[in-house]
Amino acid sequence: MAERKPKEKFSHAQVAYEHPARGEDHCGECTHYLKDPERCEIVRSPIRAEDWCRKFKEVPGETAAEERKEHEDYAAHKAS
Ligand code: SF4
Repeated sequence: MAERKPKEKFSHAQVAYEHPARGEDHCGECTHYLKDPERCEIVRSPIRAEDWCRKFKEVPGETAAEERKEHEDYAAHKAS
């Protein structure tokens, strides 16, 4: 996703921004999070890795990939 211009980004109020995050998910593991400088593609700065908002979208990680592989293996097993 292309980074939006600052004035097009959501305000903290629009996305129920939490500082710090109350739940387990946080900006540092969100697909919209960018480093150096720390910022978000869709929400206005300041953004910190330990924060969260309701636009959170988890970066597809090893766990999801492993889960998919398990399903594929199971499907292959059933087909044989
Ligand atoms: S949780 Fe919200 S503010 Fe944080 S990086 Fe993701 S979209 Fe941006």
